[in-house]
Amino acid sequence: MLPTRNGSFHLFKFAGVNVFLHWSWFLVAVYQISYRKGLYTSDIWCVLEYLALFVIVLLHEFGHALACRSVGGKADQIVLWPLGGVAYVNPPQRPGATLWSIAAGPLVNALLFPILSALCLLGRGQPWVMAQPNLYEFITNLWWINLMLLVFNMLPIYPLDGGQVLRSILWFMVGRARSLMIASVIGIIAIAALLIFAIRTPWLGIIAVFALLQCWSGLQQARAMARVAAAPRQQNVICPGCHAAPPAGDFWICGHCQRRFDIFATRGVCPNCGMIFNATRCLECGQEYPLHAFAPQSNP
Ligand SMILES: [Zn+2]
Ligand SMILES: [Zn+2]
Ligand SMILES: [Zn+2]
Repeated sequence: MLPTRNGSFHLFKFAGVNVFLHWSWFLVAVYQISYRKGLYTSDIWCVLEYLALFVIVLLHEFGHALACRSVGGKADQIVLWPLGGVAYVNPPQRPGATLWSIAAGPLVNALLFPILSALCLLGRGQPWVMAQPNLYEFITNLWWINLMLLVFNMLPIYPLDGGQVLRSILWFMVGRARSLMIASVIGIIAIAALLIFAIRTPWLGIIAVFALLQCWSGLQQARAMARVAAAPRQQNVICPGCHAAPPAGDFWICGHCQRRFDIFATRGVCPNCGMIFNATRCLECGQEYPLHAFAPQSNP
């Protein structure tokens, strides 16, 4: 359900992270620049404001990506799409690592807040403000944009950052599956509240529908996780990455006939259609490894 790179083009690569821009940002640009016309005495400031929004969103996403890297996770892609940016972060499946990877995004906005506040306060009533009213207006608007992004992202709606932060904190207390379940339910309740405001704001409605779908798939994921967690473990099989023993049972779906089967019990052969699988994704850490790599080191 995450937005894909489709319709995006590569902008640049920084610190090993590829940044993609979705074409709809140009629509946002036209809308934003024409909507904000008249706020400034020259339209160039509307363009600058749009670029500044772009930079703030980008800094936020780099916060996620670099934090994820710092805890040994994988993060090499950022897509800027119209409802904000998406950093494709895959932190190690531990609550602390996940919490840091998620919290680092809003933390960037939280750090920008005192900086922009200081600039606003310094400018108040100063002679340079009289000489440069556009510049002061610009800084004040950036202060608002940054604050709005911070507040919006911290709404406790999974998968917004706030919802994911909540989920990571709950993870410490109630475990991986139940934390996702609780965060998804809180998200659905919060969306219902948000929809009251969304009636007059169409873009909020779009986000609410998107978030609702995400919460719903979060619930399904949580139920699947709980099922995996409750299952007995495979004998003599260990993930080479996270060292967890995979569950025993029909937790794998054949990509050919769509039937469920136990990939370790059948040694990678689908019992229904005979399709052969050489690799699989660990259900605990999400990394893909060849099947033979799941054999314990002691076995020759
Ligand atoms: Zn974020
Ligand atoms: Zn099959
Ligand atoms: Zn694993």
